Amino acid sequence: MNHLKAYVSNIQRFSVHDGQGIRTTIFLLGCPLRCKWCQNPETLNSKPVIMMNQGLCAECGACMNACPQRAISLDEQGIMITDNQQCNYCFECTAACYFNARQVSGRQYTSDELFHDVIKDKEFYLSSGGGVTISGGEPTMHTDYCCQLFKMLKEQGIHAAIETCGYTKWESFERLIPVADLFLYDIKLFDENKHKKWTGVSNELILENLIKLDQANQNIIIRIPLIPTVNDDEAEFMKIIGFVKKLQAVEEVHILPFHQLGSSKYKLVGKLYDLEDLPEENNDRVEKCKNIALDAGFRVSIGGAGFKKR
Ligand code: SF4
Ligand code: SF4
Repeated sequence: MNHLKAYVSNIQRFSVHDGQGIRTTIFLLGCPLRCKWCQNPETLNSKPVIMMNQGLCAECGACMNACPQRAISLDEQGIMITDNQQCNYCFECTAACYFNARQVSGRQYTSDELFHDVIKDKEFYLSSGGGVTISGGEPTMHTDYCCQLFKMLKEQGIHAAIETCGYTKWESFERLIPVADLFLYDIKLFDENKHKKWTGVSNELILENLIKLDQANQNIIIRIPLIPTVNDDEAEFMKIIGFVKKLQAVEEVHILPFHQLGSSKYKLVGKLYDLEDLPEENNDRVEKCKNIALDAGFRVSIGGAGFKKR
């Protein structure tokens, strides 16, 4: 078999927030959305990124000297900056940095390598009813890769889940349906204009794909990131739940309250973060939204641990 390759930013073992049981969550690089609240900015582009921690930098200059592209320079404030147009992702600079100020996020794995890595925890998956979840980024940007990995996992009896934003051609889901046991499907906003404003894209395709997945009677859990002032008001949340209620196959909803845990990563990857001043999600609002989903007849999890076994 020709084992495909993809870039992985993180392999999170013993995860209990991305589906049922004990799982390994794999974060692939590349996402077509630009949600302003994203807490994994290092996964947005499909290539590895350099994470630069200025606080650890000793200004020794080793990275500048190591760079064959002359892409690194010092600005007027003595801060190391990288010219991304010049950079060719050779990562000589990260290898040269003794202080770990400059690190790379993203390593290429063949599907076979990744399989051998995650299968080490097989006994935990089987004893807890867990398995492997592919997240991102957006996994459907690497559909064939995910299919290869899932086929290998299925041969071992391991539960395979995919976490998706749904913004992809329907053909991606058609290819995934035979090999995926669970779709963790994100809905961020029901209002299309607000969706465009906060994520950069329309939600039309996302909702269309969800309806088709439901008609194909797939195992789907809806995940709603709850973002203060964006979608945590009763009216917007009820619209989302009202839409999901019309689906046949969905019985479970996960509410993921907004936090700021990944906000410091924006500085590390040299990106601007717009929601620095947004408070973390308030418990009363979480409870209100939870009750709306419960009243609609769903099993509801706060934070993403799953109940369902199928
Ligand atoms: S090698 Fe590391 S510590 Fe030295 S200047 Fe570069 S980033 Fe800073
Ligand atoms: S990755 Fe390579 S080209 Fe890019 S800044 Fe580092 S050493 Fe230079």
